[in-house]
Amino acid sequence: MNMKDKVINKLKLFVTTDCNMSCKYCMIKNTNEYMTFDLAIKWINYFILNTKNDWNKKFIYFFGWEPFKNFNLIKKIINYINLQKLKFPLEYVICTNLTILNNEYIFFLKNNNIKLSISLWGYWKYHTSHRIFKTNSNVNSLNITLKNIKLLKKGGIQTYKLWIGFVILKDFLDMLFTNFIYIVEVLSLCHLNFEIIIDKKEWSMDDYNNFKNEYNKIIRYIICCISKKKYIYLNNLNWTILFLLYDISKNDKLSYLAELYPNWNIMFSWFNTYLSTEEIKKTIVWNLNKDSFIDVNYSDKYAPDFNSLENFKPGVWYRFIKDFMNVLDLEIAKIIIKRSKEELYFKEYIDNVKKYYF
Ligand code: SF4
Repeated sequence: MNMKDKVINKLKLFVTTDCNMSCKYCMIKNTNEYMTFDLAIKWINYFILNTKNDWNKKFIYFFGWEPFKNFNLIKKIINYINLQKLKFPLEYVICTNLTILNNEYIFFLKNNNIKLSISLWGYWKYHTSHRIFKTNSNVNSLNITLKNIKLLKKGGIQTYKLWIGFVILKDFLDMLFTNFIYIVEVLSLCHLNFEIIIDKKEWSMDDYNNFKNEYNKIIRYIICCISKKKYIYLNNLNWTILFLLYDISKNDKLSYLAELYPNWNIMFSWFNTYLSTEEIKKTIVWNLNKDSFIDVNYSDKYAPDFNSLENFKPGVWYRFIKDFMNVLDLEIAKIIIKRSKEELYFKEYIDNVKKYYF
C-alpha cells in the first residue's frame, strides 16, 4: 500500500495516553505516554501538509486519553503549522473531558480558531455517576465541565465551536432523549456528536429497541426544530447530508482517516470494535519508525483489555446500532435536502452545515 496515494483528510493525533479521570466505563489503559513534537510533525508533514486534498478542508483532531494534559505539544504543533504556507484550510478539533482549562488555553483556542468536542452525558446524575476524577471521586465532574464551558464562552469562544460528544451507554439508553434535550434546551449547545461507548455490559434486544426509539425521537425533534428556525447539528446526520450532496464515498475509510499513537503506530482504528480480531490487526498499518507499510506487527498495547472482562462480546451490537443510524440518517438527510429546495429554513440549515464542515 502506498500511503502517498491515499487521501488523508482527517488525522487523529493521540497526544497522550494519560488522563486525569477514571471513568467507570473507560476501557483504555493509562500508559501515561506523551507524544513528542518530532513524531507529530513527521506525521503531519507526510500525510497532511504534503498530500493532495480532495475536500475543501482537512482536519486535525487532538485526542488522548485527555489531550489537555499535553497542551504544550498542541500549541507547538499549531504554531509550527501557522508558519507553513498551506494550500487548503485546516481545522483543529480537541476532543476533551474539559476539566483542565485556564485563561492561557482559552486565549490560544480563540486565536487559532480551534473547535472543542466535549464529552458530556446530559443531566448531573448520569454524567457524574460515571465520570469520576482519579484523585477525588467525590468531586462533581459535570459542574467543572459546565463551569469551563461558561469560561470558554466568556473568553469569546463562539458556541458553534463547542461540540458535545454526546455519550451513549447501555445504562441510560431510555434517557437518551431526555439527556439530549438537557444539552440543547437547558445548556443551549446545539452541535452534537454521538459517542457510542462499547462497554463491558452486553446489550439486549430491549436495549437495542430502546436505543432505536430514543434515536428516532432525537432525529425527528431535529427536523421539527429546523422548521422553527432552531438549528441542531448532529455530526453523523450532517455528514450524511454532505455525502449525498457531494457524492463522497463513505466506504473507503482508509482513504480519509488515520490515527497516530505516541509509540509511532498508525492505525485505522481500534475504535472500530465491531471488526473481527483479524480485521482489527490489519488496522495498524504502519509504524513510522519503519520504512514501509509491509510487515507491521499488531500491538494491542492501547486496545481495550477485552480478556479481563467477563461475558464481554466486543462490539456485538455496534454494527447494528451504526446500521440503524445510517439508514435513518439517510432517510432524514434526503428529507432535509428535499425540503431545502422549497423552504427557507431548511435551505439555511444546509448552508450552515456546509459552512461548518467544508
Ligand atoms: S475522560 Fe475519557 S480517557 Fe479519561 S477516563 Fe474518562 S473515558 Fe477514559
